[in-house]
Amino acid sequence: MNKELIKKLPKVNALLDIPKINKFAKEMPYTKYISTIRTTIDTYRNFVVKDMIEDFSFEDVVDTCIANLRDQPRYNLTKVINASGTIIHTNLGRSLLSEDAMKHVVNIGLNYNNLEYNLDAEGRGSRYDHVEQLICELTGAEAAVVVNNNASAVLLTLISTVTNGEVVISRGELIEIGGSFRVPEIMNYANTKLVEVGTTNRTHLKDYANAIGENTKALIKVHTSNYKIVGFTKEVSLQEMVDLAKENNVLSIEDAGSGNLINLQKYTNLNEPTIQDSIKTGVDLVTFSGDKLLGGAQAGIIIGKKEYINEIKKNNLLRSLRVSKLTLAALEVTLNHYKEESEVIKKIPSMRMICEDPKEVQKRARSLRSKLNKLCNHQFELIKTDATIGGGAMPTSTVESYGLRVTSNLKTTQLKKLMHQYKTPIIPITSDDKIVIDLKTIRRDEFKAIIEFFEGLE
Ligand SMILES: *Cc1c(COP(=O)(O)O)cnc(C)c1O
Repeated sequence: MNKELIKKLPKVNALLDIPKINKFAKEMPYTKYISTIRTTIDTYRNFVVKDMIEDFSFEDVVDTCIANLRDQPRYNLTKVINASGTIIHTNLGRSLLSEDAMKHVVNIGLNYNNLEYNLDAEGRGSRYDHVEQLICELTGAEAAVVVNNNASAVLLTLISTVTNGEVVISRGELIEIGGSFRVPEIMNYANTKLVEVGTTNRTHLKDYANAIGENTKALIKVHTSNYKIVGFTKEVSLQEMVDLAKENNVLSIEDAGSGNLINLQKYTNLNEPTIQDSIKTGVDLVTFSGDKLLGGAQAGIIIGKKEYINEIKKNNLLRSLRVSKLTLAALEVTLNHYKEESEVIKKIPSMRMICEDPKEVQKRARSLRSKLNKLCNHQFELIKTDATIGGGAMPTSTVESYGLRVTSNLKTTQLKKLMHQYKTPIIPITSDDKIVIDLKTIRRDEFKAIIEFFEGLE
């Protein structure tokens, strides 16, 4: 054993002082960071003890340390690269927040704030007040309240307004969204009898009319957002349903699902109704998600007539479904972007991706390909793709996109596994048994990680 070499082993503290090393302290749990540095020094010690190394420099240890830190798995919840082309991907965290929204979230999280403190009255305030005005201004509604997510919004709306009664719904709208959110089950919690009318593909206004009886409390319409019935179909419009509800003195409720606030036809071939249009029908209550098309944080927004929103605000269940300060911070900034439509498509990532000129995606695809084509074991072919909106919004609608189809010396399943297990996991799509990297959902600042991944396979 070379004793001089043992003396050359750096102390942990010496390594902690190196900026290239201590920048990792912010990126992973501290204990993992320290133990990785210790293990690196121990590995060198072991080499010396076993005479497996003739010499090394301080820089060698630093470099090994950085390499080890870089390869460490980080937090369990971690950033991934969405190469699937699905813009609002529920499994990948739905909408990305705008930079402005995130700055505000950081500021609110790091500081005390007036969450439930009224600065004018110098006393207790309500968390629900911070965004109500803004939501009303943007949607045209009389009043609003925000809860944890849209599933909670639907639950709370029904429990607060139609318990112990009957609610009429079209069979074409009895939907299940993801895991276990089923409209019929929600109705059960509300102790509300569901009266199903029409058939899966056709429901007429007279079907609703015939179902209205003594115990009917509401007519409900659910935006069929994660599937679409096509072909021989007939659906009653929201306006027709609202008018019928009024004639019969029962409530009208719409679960609008994705919550779109702008006319997307101006920018795309998509025709998604807006929340403003819903309110214009005179509907009593509307619920929608905060993190789908709206492009904010996970939340459920309930809007409508003041007297019913007041009922909802008085319900004790609101406390269990309440929205967090970080969500409110993100939501307030996101909603403010909507005051100016140009801000919406510039600043809100989901909207920017949806409305972006396909030529820009093509440029990104070309640019990534030119960087990847230097590699030998993989070929990248530029192809046209269809990016989907996702998030239960517009299931059959797609936007034009571009991607790279990968030809590899590895099997597709193997390559896909390696992409998933990469330190910055990359989630691609598989098409005709080949990996496709869709550029719609990839930013230029993510190219580096993708390139490094493929370089690592060479
Ligand atoms: C997505 C969706 C929901 C559930 O919303 P969450 O915000 O995920 O709770 C409910 N109804 C409709 C129509 C939806 O599209």
